[in-house]
Amino acid sequence: MTNQTNFLDRLFDAGLLIDTGVDGLYGRSGQFEDVISAFERLIDRFGGADGAEAIRFPPGMNRAYFETSGYMKSFPQLAGTVHSFCGNELDHMSLLKCMDADEDWSKEQKITDIVLTPAACYPLYPTIAKRGAIAAKGALFDLQSYCFRHEPSKDPARQQLFRMREYVCMGTQDHVTEFRQTWMDRGLKMMEAVGLPVEIDVANDPFFGRAGKMLANNQRDQNLKFELLIPITSTSNPTACMSFNYHQDAFGAKWGLNLEDGSVAHTACVGFGLERIALALFHHHGLDVNAWPEQVRKALWG
Ligand code: ATP
Ligand code: ZN
Ligand code: MG
Repeated sequence: MTNQTNFLDRLFDAGLLIDTGVDGLYGRSGQFEDVISAFERLIDRFGGADGAEAIRFPPGMNRAYFETSGYMKSFPQLAGTVHSFCGNELDHMSLLKCMDADEDWSKEQKITDIVLTPAACYPLYPTIAKRGAIAAKGALFDLQSYCFRHEPSKDPARQQLFRMREYVCMGTQDHVTEFRQTWMDRGLKMMEAVGLPVEIDVANDPFFGRAGKMLANNQRDQNLKFELLIPITSTSNPTACMSFNYHQDAFGAKWGLNLEDGSVAHTACVGFGLERIALALFHHHGLDVNAWPEQVRKALWG
């Protein structure tokens, strides 16, 4: 048995995660949620004084925005689209017949206007672009959303529906790169406060296909993505629990995000993988929250 399935089974046995029969799709216990809520309050304590505007989108986004984002160019393998039955009564009868016969019943399922959100910040850029120019001092947003990625796995830290808490900064190059550095420093401090061993390393996104290899190399060479890594199911292959992404002016140009002086906004986002952080805490401090070190409990619950 691998470390991954072993840890997953222990989480099931402890009732912290609940098996749904699909890899990467789990229920969570009240205890698991309580850890996530506590960690989010810790995030609030570190970021709360920055004056970010809080926005919560549902876990689905406007398909038109999704198409404009270019996600299907870079990560077609991860996307999840919402389809619904759009047929007539006859189609309905044949759908039920197919279901009864265990055959493909999805023929009349047509794509809807909603796509599952792949990253918490995706719905934000077109929303802010509609407001008009961004103030010279920049803009800061606080987001949290369930995100979908089609990457089924026995690794409990790689789920198909998971939550991402994000801060997104828009402004000049200096402003947004400073924002990113601030959160790298804070990320280290936060993980130290809850007793988790961390390292930060340069990273790349899993761009699809052969052309994607070049995009990934380019992202690395330019230090556009960093990850905060914590060992969960492997020490040699620690898990990314936060990421720090500088998009240069790519999103600004794509969405028409401009600063008051007419220049294209640069953007950066910092993402917390909330389930991964909870899993890191359970891995390092044990499955019984009451037995966690006093210092960790204090940092989380005061
Ligand atoms: P990985 O390299 O592990 O696939 P990623 O680079 O795809 O991670 P990001 O796109 O930067 O991750 O997403 C921000 C954060 O969301 C990650 O740092 C991680 O904590 C979390 N995350 C990403 N994918 C998953 C997943 N499948 N299950 C749980 N959390 C995830
Ligand atoms: Zn983002
Ligand atoms: Mg990934």
